Order: sequence, then C-alpha cells, then structure tokens
Amino acid sequence: MKEEMDNLKQNILDTYPRLAKTDKFLFACHPGVPCFNDCCADVNIFLTPYDIIRLKNHLGISSGEFLAKYTVSPFDKKQKFPVVLLKMNDEAKKACFFVTDRGCSVYPDRPWSCRMYPLGLASPKEGTDEGADFYFLMKEDVCKGFNEKTEQSITQWLGDQGIAAYDELGRLYKEITLHDYFGKGGELSPEKMEMFHLVCYNIDKFRSFILGSSFLRKFEVDPAVIEKIKTDDVELFKFGCTWLKFSLFGEKTMKIKDDVRAARETEMKNRSTPRG
Ligand code: SF4
Ligand code: SF4
Repeated sequence: MKEEMDNLKQNILDTYPRLAKTDKFLFACHPGVPCFNDCCADVNIFLTPYDIIRLKNHLGISSGEFLAKYTVSPFDKKQKFPVVLLKMNDEAKKACFFVTDRGCSVYPDRPWSCRMYPLGLASPKEGTDEGADFYFLMKEDVCKGFNEKTEQSITQWLGDQGIAAYDELGRLYKEITLHDYFGKGGELSPEKMEMFHLVCYNIDKFRSFILGSSFLRKFEVDPAVIEKIKTDDVELFKFGCTWLKFSLFGEKTMKIKDDVRAARETEMKNRSTPRG
C-alpha cells in the first residue's frame, strides 16, 4: 500500500493542475444526485488524529473501542509510521459502516477527507523543489457532482465544509509525519511505532499512560496543562505531539525533572565505577 500511495502522490505532484484558494470549480453533492452515497463504499479513507477524536466522541465510545470496531491498520514494512483507515463492511458493496439511505450518519463529525472531497490537498515535502501545499480536484467517473451547475471557490468550499476546525491539529500531525527525521532515512523502532500509534490514534489510552504511570513524576509539565489534558482530547493531542518530538526525534521539547536527572546521573556513575 505504501508504494501505491507514493506513486499516486508523485502522479498528483507531476500532473494535476495546482489550484489556488481563489480558483473556482463546478460541483455539488446532495441527495438528488444519481450517485448519492456511491462514494461511501470500497474507498480508502485515512483517518487523522482529529478525525478519530471527533468520531469516537460523536459515537460516545473510547478511542480503543473505535479503533477496534471501525478501523483497520494495514501493515507494510516500508511504512515509516502507522496509519489508520476507516473500515468498510464485509458485504459485496463494502459500504462504510456509517452510510445510511439518508446519507452519512456521522455527518457533523465526518472525517477530513470526506469533507474535502472532491478537493485534495497535496503537501510536497518542505525543502524540496516541489513547491508549497496546493489543492487539486479528484475527478472520478462515479461522481456525477461535477455535472451540477453550482460554482464555488476553494475558499468557499473549505468554509462550507468546516475545514478550519481541522487545520491546527492537522498541522501538528504533519509536523510529526513529515519530520526531517524520516526524510533523512530515520526509522522508528517497534516501541516508537507503538508510541506514535498511542498518541495519534488511541488518545484515551495515551491519557491513561500519562496519568497512570510515572510519567508526570519524571517530566516537568505545567500544572495548567495537566489539568487540561485530564479531560480535553485536543489539548492532550497537542501535548502528545510535544512528547513525540522528544521521544521519537530527540528534540528538546520536554524537560526531565532535575532530581530525576541527578538520580540517573548518580546511578550511571555508580555503574561505571569499578568495584575494588
Ligand atoms: S464517514 Fe460518512 S461521508 Fe465518510 S465514507 Fe462514511 S458515510 Fe461516507
Ligand atoms: S459520488 Fe460525488 S456527487 Fe455522488 S454522492 Fe459522492 S461526492 Fe456526492
């Protein structure tokens, strides 16, 4: 799957017209289109951390339960970090679990890519000569929405779909997934893969880890942040990104408490001192 996705990305970078926010396009999707719901089946929908937070809270279940019931995590040795996809049902049509005759049953909290369609957002890697982020149109034969006469700009579409609410956490997620560490060939150990998965996708379990382990005894964390992350998933994910930068990439985004550091240094010294 990694290779497939890389090829698609390269094709988009090389051949798709790059749209600016002021560019306009003809498109509409509503229950009257002949293809209504057809796109909610047999489709790869990658979930972002914020998608999972919104969906599991919409459904009133934990992130662990959501992951187990509604997602798949394809494993590919070439993958640099774990990814999570929305699971389709096992019937012939492979429909999304959330599609109904009247449309999407989780519509107010539908995933980012369901909101964006038919728009895509490409993010060439920073520091390359491929340029800045750009929008593009995904025209698929199944979709008759392009025959509608409603014209809108990219900005209008993004506004109508409530995309701004996804921007901040999306940016933080990209700071991890597009980190230089990967660009320079860095790989994550199985333990680090697990930590990535915990922070990005299993936010309730990450909260249990932070509050239920010795973590807060070891690291300096602002008490106001500790209060927030006890109940606020978004704040917890923001904190988690700070932690991932420290634990995965060795950035100095967290500080070990002085007494813990001193105790560790003493222990190291004792270990290296030959016994007479
Ligand atoms: S989450 Fe909603 S919009 Fe997205 S594929 Fe499923 S039913 Fe369709
Ligand atoms: S295929 Fe296109 S027009 Fe049809 S329901 Fe899906 S998004 Fe709407």
